[in-house]
Amino acid sequence: MTFMCLKCGKKVDKLEGRIRCPFCGYRIFSKQKPNIIRRVIAR
Ligand SMILES: [Zn+2]
Repeated sequence: MTFMCLKCGKKVDKLEGRIRCPFCGYRIFSKQKPNIIRRVIAR
């Protein structure tokens, strides 16, 4: 599953445990699926 950081827009694969952007540290991602894009907010 691929996540896209909503801050820097980079794609992050395999987020396990801590959902956090390795590039900017942002914690809000959009879940990318073949047909559906869902917004995921990690706390
Ligand atoms: Zn980011």
